[in-house]
Amino acid sequence: MSIVVVGSVALDSVETPHGKVQNALGGSATYFSVSASFFTNDVKLVAVIGEDFPNEHIEFLKSRGIDLEGLEQVKGKTFRWAGRYGANLSGAETLATELNVFESFSPKIPDSYKSAEYVFLANINPELQLDVLRQMKNAKLIVCDTMNLWIAERKEKLLETIKHVDILIINDAEARQLTGEQKVDMAARKILEYGPSRVVVKKGEHGAITLTDKTYFSSPAYPLKRVLDPTGAGDTFAGGFMGYLASTDDVSEQNIRKAIVYGTVMASFNVEDFSLNRQRILTREEIESRFSEIKAITEF
Ligand code: AMP
Repeated sequence: MSIVVVGSVALDSVETPHGKVQNALGGSATYFSVSASFFTNDVKLVAVIGEDFPNEHIEFLKSRGIDLEGLEQVKGKTFRWAGRYGANLSGAETLATELNVFESFSPKIPDSYKSAEYVFLANINPELQLDVLRQMKNAKLIVCDTMNLWIAERKEKLLETIKHVDILIINDAEARQLTGEQKVDMAARKILEYGPSRVVVKKGEHGAITLTDKTYFSSPAYPLKRVLDPTGAGDTFAGGFMGYLASTDDVSEQNIRKAIVYGTVMASFNVEDFSLNRQRILTREEIESRFSEIKAITEF
């Protein structure tokens, strides 16, 4: 089954206690698509880049089999984000967000994308997320992500988007910010009242939970020995989650649980290096081996 994703394709400048990169490949849609491409060869990207976007990054996305018909290249500068992580590596401090070409972007979904069954609204202005949603004709599963900036500055539009999605994937701090509830479980339950039938809350090194009004599942994080750069962990998680669901075309509770663990595995690889460097050398065998390890450490 095919997946359409809309989100940012970016040049990121990131500093962590373990090093820094400047203008490295990043963006919510980039991390998502590359992660999903390990599970399905039918990932269709909708985003915009400027004239300054390095061709080698386009070649990398193509090498992952990602459909770039919906990736527009226009006059101007590519979206840029700069962030810094403190000693405990939890939560980035945003130093700069330059929307650039995203400021006037109005996504036109190619005809070949419109009947995709799986739709992922990666972190981007909720108006663009809604715009894409309106153009999709055949969506079977709509999943959405967001961030603190949009909760603070575009809450109304964001709540309108959330009303139309099946699953909201969000991190613990954002779930608190969105709902005003301090306990993550309570915040997740409140989000179910906004429209989605399921919510997934990512809790960083404490793993992830997913709940509906009848079910509850919790996965630990993979116990990593070192983390270099958490940027993109959330989008990479979502890519593994949805890539696995689309490849199996099964959204039963049991399969969603497996998808959460695949998301966890993909995020664990992502944080082992800066930008998407770990994904460049990642293999499906490594993914399966880490999936089995999580199964083993949670068995009792
Ligand atoms: P994550 O660490 O999973 O939350 O995502 C990090 C990615 O989100 C980075 O590669 C950024 O380029 C991208 N990003 C940061 N701020 C925004 C924003 N306001 N809109 C869209 N993408 C963003």
